[in-house]
Amino acid sequence: MTEKLDPWSSSEINDYSKLFEEFGISPFDNVLPEIPSPHMYMRRRVIFGHRDYEQIAEAMRTGAPFSVMDGFMPSGKVHLGHKMVMDQIIWHQQMGASSFVGIADREAFSVRGFSWQKCREIGVEEYILSLIALGFKPDGLIYFQSGCDSVKDLAFELGVKVNFSELSAIYGFSGETNLSHMISVATQAADILQPQLEEFGGPKPVVVPVGPDQDPHLRLTRGLAGKMSMFRVEERENANGEKYLSVRGKGAPKQALQELKKRIPGKVKLYEEHIDVLQIPDYAFLERFSLQISQPEKREYFMTQIQEIAKFANEAKPPEFLDYEKYFVFRRVWKIIRKILEEVVAEVSAEFEGYAFIPPASTYHRFMSGLQGGKMSSSVPDSYIALTDDPKEGAKKVKRAKTGGCVTLDEQKKLGGKPDECSVFELMLFHLLGDDEELLEIRQECVSGTRMCGSCKQLAAEKMYEFLKDHQEKRELAREQLDEYKIIYKK
Ligand code: SF4
Repeated sequence: MTEKLDPWSSSEINDYSKLFEEFGISPFDNVLPEIPSPHMYMRRRVIFGHRDYEQIAEAMRTGAPFSVMDGFMPSGKVHLGHKMVMDQIIWHQQMGASSFVGIADREAFSVRGFSWQKCREIGVEEYILSLIALGFKPDGLIYFQSGCDSVKDLAFELGVKVNFSELSAIYGFSGETNLSHMISVATQAADILQPQLEEFGGPKPVVVPVGPDQDPHLRLTRGLAGKMSMFRVEERENANGEKYLSVRGKGAPKQALQELKKRIPGKVKLYEEHIDVLQIPDYAFLERFSLQISQPEKREYFMTQIQEIAKFANEAKPPEFLDYEKYFVFRRVWKIIRKILEEVVAEVSAEFEGYAFIPPASTYHRFMSGLQGGKMSSSVPDSYIALTDDPKEGAKKVKRAKTGGCVTLDEQKKLGGKPDECSVFELMLFHLLGDDEELLEIRQECVSGTRMCGSCKQLAAEKMYEFLKDHQEKRELAREQLDEYKIIYKK
């Protein structure tokens, strides 16, 4: 039997992709080649979609500042599903992101009715210890929402830009929804935007790795990022089909528009409420333009980009350089102009209004299914493996898990198994086997009927035992290291 074109395939991904078309989520495959040494979840298509991840990939390649942000509601046991998110936070941190982890105790208080004390206990005992044990470094920030003034203030300010009808449309809130629940939603938006506050270095790309169920938060927050910024940059086309960039600012003060005009070299037109950047300029223009960015790291980042493009353009033939639609160089130049413009616009917005946010990027990963098939459920302990499960019990759960094998060995030899419907294969794919080759071999042997479920279960159970044992030892070390971490608790 020949290997499928997509070795990691799962029908689930197609379902998600369809689901997300209407929300403008792009397939992760598009951005994968731009990522230096992609994470295992990316290579294996466990992460299948993204929004605006190009800017994160670019920051990783060039060393420009970027952040990763995620949150955990302290509601129960930390399990392998949470590990997936933690793995992604830690990987981005290793790739250079400033890292933010919020413990969503406001949400647990309002939705679950937990006391602050209980939230703190669960937050530390379950989530923070495992996060550190998995490799989170002390230069990241961990905070409980209830203790973080900047998040609480920002949540309140964001609240001005969203009303009950919008929240109802996104979250299905009704007249019964309590006010604290609504505040906790605004707090999550504040969590996501916090890395872009001045005290953390100002506007920058931020990625939030999530499962598809969290997308409403991203949609709300991206909308709020736009509403909090005075200007937005749009790509437009004139009657001759020529593209140009337009900066629009509804109700923006004239001085802000004038300040922008001053800082954009070349041909611009200033209107009542917007300015148009009409010219596709040369490199000298780009260099002059990027000098308008006040933060040295960002300025340096754009200068490097411009030099790279200039080098490439020198080697390209003139027609290639001139055709916007077809050729790489011109598209890159255009992208750079847009980005510099966004930076300058963000800086001017911040000068005049105090805030400027770039809409956050996001990645979307597949859910882990329950060990017995169907969904994982916190009320069914056999459906998931907690990171604090006794290692022997964890191994037993693997042995009891549902596989994609046939009823009899003879049938399996004849027909092969179904790794895409197998919880044991999923455990190896998501967590237990780091070696792509080995995993592909198992998959191949399964579909061709030369592998039996017993050997997979044995292997996965051993690996699970080892992982849990090692992780729990690291959790105890993490307990001793807690003081080395920046953790903001409720006062
Ligand atoms: Fe799953 Fe392995 Fe059985 Fe295939 S052989 S269905 S991968 S347990």
